[in-house]
Amino acid sequence: MPDLALHSLTRTFTSVAGSLEILRGVDLEMNRGDALAVTGPSGSGKSTLLYIIGLLDHPTAGSISLMGQTPFAMSAADQAAFRNRHIGFVFQDHHLLPQCTVLENVLIPKLAGGGSTAADETRAKTLLDRVGLTGRITHKPAQLSGGERQRVAVCRALINQPAVLLADEPTGNLDRTTAESVGTLLLEISREQNTLLICVTHSTELAGRFPTHKQLLDGRLVEG
Ligand code: ADP
Ligand code: MG
Repeated sequence: MPDLALHSLTRTFTSVAGSLEILRGVDLEMNRGDALAVTGPSGSGKSTLLYIIGLLDHPTAGSISLMGQTPFAMSAADQAAFRNRHIGFVFQDHHLLPQCTVLENVLIPKLAGGGSTAADETRAKTLLDRVGLTGRITHKPAQLSGGERQRVAVCRALINQPAVLLADEPTGNLDRTTAESVGTLLLEISREQNTLLICVTHSTELAGRFPTHKQLLDGRLVEG
């Protein structure tokens, strides 16, 4: 069984204005070590798809299996533990906590498990060193550049050694050169850590550097 399998996944949003069919049957199979870029027009459902895979939203119909399990059959508590254990998420806006240092921000996912150990701190420092931020571990997010903040967010997503790394337009708010370096970093790190990487991007240039590129069009994933 593939590490990630989506079959006929749909998502419809219903409101007083009517119902909006955003995902209309998404099929996707991926394994650890695979890296996929997803592009598509604004409003096509890219974030919705990524949020469902990241268990931050739920499908209307269809099936999803992740690391041999069916997360939407789990209790809310089991699902939260599963998400924390297996999934790392990088958002367009870094979502770092402003009052915490760089090192503390990277260790935040450890709080759910009762706090960080010395080994966790070592891993956080190793990750920060890997992304070139050893000299910034006591900085607060406001004292960093946009690219540096995103690199911290990448380290935070990786602290629990997730099998799955999801990035939603992680370079969307960065200038071109910085965006390129963050994109390269995501690809390199996911290869080193053998993660299953899905990166939503509006940059066809970045998408072109991924081994696989698909587009979300009319609610379905098609070859990019
Ligand atoms: P993209 O990331 O491709 O720009 P999104 O996945 O954010 O697109 O959104 C796709 C569409 O679904 C948009 O039209 C958006 O307004 C709608 N949408 C997203 N989330 C919700 C929600 N919680 N309720 C209603 N509509 C939503
Ligand atoms: Mg989006």
